[in-house]
Amino acid sequence: DSKRFGGKVTLVTGAAGNIGLATAERLAAAGSAIAMLDLAGEKLDAAVRTVAAAGVTARGYGCDVTDAAGVQAVVDQVAADFGQIDFLFNNAGYQGAFAPVQDYPVEDFARVMTINVCGAFHVLRAVSRHMVARKFGRIVNTASMAGVGGPPNMAAYGASKFAIIGLTQTASKDLAPYNIRVNAISPAFMGPGFMWERQVELQAAVGSQYFSTDPKVVAEQMINSVPMRRYGDIKEIPGVVEFLLGDDSSYMTGVNLPIAGG
Ligand code: NAD
Repeated sequence: DSKRFGGKVTLVTGAAGNIGLATAERLAAAGSAIAMLDLAGEKLDAAVRTVAAAGVTARGYGCDVTDAAGVQAVVDQVAADFGQIDFLFNNAGYQGAFAPVQDYPVEDFARVMTINVCGAFHVLRAVSRHMVARKFGRIVNTASMAGVGGPPNMAAYGASKFAIIGLTQTASKDLAPYNIRVNAISPAFMGPGFMWERQVELQAAVGSQYFSTDPKVVAEQMINSVPMRRYGDIKEIPGVVEFLLGDDSSYMTGVNLPIAGG
């Protein structure tokens, strides 16, 4: 196959979401077949149709990443359906509540950690078993700038994304002997869209010293904290993932690349 990723198979989690779908489309355009994992539903079905329109094989797998046995079964099914898994974009995630740590809801903290940390671990573990057997694999985990500097009012999300960066570093060492590279990306403020609106509104609702209570002002405050003075477009992420999956990053493993406007 003459395309860059022709003959390759990529598993994308959170594949029905903004970043997952945009990245799946990009990798499909590069020729990769795409296995798309997300919670079962019409959103996933529609995302699979969108990616299949690029002319590659795309299949949807309804799965909750918090279910370790379910993840292992689905990943084994993907390997059986496609014959191999070359690339993993381990990207499903949940932003959680916004509240200062002393008020942060206990159940939501557990939920964020279970989805973002245990979920990413389940997928990483299940997929790496197939990659170890073939002695080939490229993995990109979605962290966040919230995992580089802890943002206010996001105790669970911040902790979960610090954990993803730690998991990336450990996995890169465990898997290096098997020709498997593991890296992370850390987007910061991406917009417009649901995640942007949600964090602007919820940071305003908290009423902390860090942000105004007026969502319009919060949006300006966030933008003004970015050296490039704008939020990032979702479309500025997939090329970085493609770089980390492809051979241009052949001597990089265990790194976290910020996509953050400075
Ligand atoms: P999104 O909400 O559009 O996509 C997330 C996807 O993950 C959704 O399709 C959702 O159904 C799926 N998901 C959630 N819980 C799941 C579970 N238990 N099992 C299976 N799938 C599940 O958000 P997005 O912006 O595309 O986020 C993708 C990743 O990027 C997340 O890890 C998020 O934390 C991270 N991130 C996003 C931003 C941003 O501003 N958009 C910034 C930094 C990091």
